[in-house]
Amino acid sequence: MTGSDHLAFTDEAAASSRAVRPADLRRHNLALVLRHVSASEGLTRAELARLTALTKGTISSLAEELIERGFLVESAPEPQGRLGRPPTGLLALNGDSHCGIGIEINIDYLAVSVADLRGRIRFHMAEGRDNRIGRRTKVLDRAARAVRDAARIASSAGLQPAGVSLAVPGPVDVERGILMRAPGLAWTDVPVVDELADRLADLGLPVLAENEANLAALGELWLGIGSTAGDYVYVSGESGVGGGIIVDGALVRGSRGSAGEIGHIVVDPNGPPCTCGGRGCLGQMAGQETLFRLAGLEPDQATRQVAGEPALDELLAMLGRGDLQALEAVDKVAHALGIALADIVNLLDPDSIILGGIYAPLSPWLIGPIVESLGRQDILGGRNPVAIHSSLLGADAAVRGAATLVVKQLMSGSVAETQGAVQPHLAGGQM
Ligand SMILES: [Zn+2]
Repeated sequence: MTGSDHLAFTDEAAASSRAVRPADLRRHNLALVLRHVSASEGLTRAELARLTALTKGTISSLAEELIERGFLVESAPEPQGRLGRPPTGLLALNGDSHCGIGIEINIDYLAVSVADLRGRIRFHMAEGRDNRIGRRTKVLDRAARAVRDAARIASSAGLQPAGVSLAVPGPVDVERGILMRAPGLAWTDVPVVDELADRLADLGLPVLAENEANLAALGELWLGIGSTAGDYVYVSGESGVGGGIIVDGALVRGSRGSAGEIGHIVVDPNGPPCTCGGRGCLGQMAGQETLFRLAGLEPDQATRQVAGEPALDELLAMLGRGDLQALEAVDKVAHALGIALADIVNLLDPDSIILGGIYAPLSPWLIGPIVESLGRQDILGGRNPVAIHSSLLGADAAVRGAATLVVKQLMSGSVAETQGAVQPHLAGGQM
């Protein structure tokens, strides 16, 4: 799936001889205006006309509709128009109208975020909780409660929720809303969208679901370092290892939606058994539980403890004072990561790798050994080596990406403003 196929047509197609319904053209142009405005601090109508190649009359009509629908605000015009032109205000996204709600069910935590149209996170909550234990229905009940709380808080701030995006730790059939397999949770073929939508039926919000690592990769693209990273592979250390691939500003999902499952690349065929049925997968060799255990931290500290994440803080403190066991633990993880990433780099030839999750704060210790591994196995012998960045969003990338996805889809016209059918297409770089 490409990043733009949920729009009725592309810019080029709009100009072709293909019959285009006026309503589709209008929707396309509304999305086009929003795309330009969202990429700026504010634009005049004349600037928009120039950028979109639409007439000033059309731009004015589109702007009026977008202001009326709450998407745009127009600042008061300057008293004197620029260079003697009629005074005109600047159009900017309205950060106080609609919002998207992101909810993340991960192996060892639950998180919820609310993003406004300007991409600002207006509410965020995360709680450490082992979702492997207990009944699945209870986990989904808790997720629904968290969404409900977030919707209430958003509404009390004057924001109108436009939809809910659920991040889960495994590949998702996005058309059917089914989490196909999350080995870490031992969930298989769970209709997560229906489960959540049923629990939230009274809110009347569209619900979609996606693999958390894919949403984290998109989160980095929209809110983090991804916008300047070119084509990249996002790799995230958590309970297991997640991955997402961004090419040409769009998510690569693969034919079945499981592209980017870096955590199950085999690093050591004789390694420990993995929840997927294989052995020596990267997730087993370089996941946070392995890392903490190797560093000598207590196993019960090895889940994400959201408030301050004490296990991670402890590990960072140990590294800071040169603790040998901690340094060796991180080195082992970096070695495993290097082996897997070298294969990925030779396969995909990306511009960058982004280290997310717990790898972000650990990147000062990880990057050196990873670069060494990549250098050893680089088919191009070190020419223009891949850049390695540390995530700016850390453990919140997925839930923030989820909330922002709703906003992106709303602005591209693929989520209706009122209750309606879910359009679970994933936006890449359209906005
Ligand atoms: Zn595996």
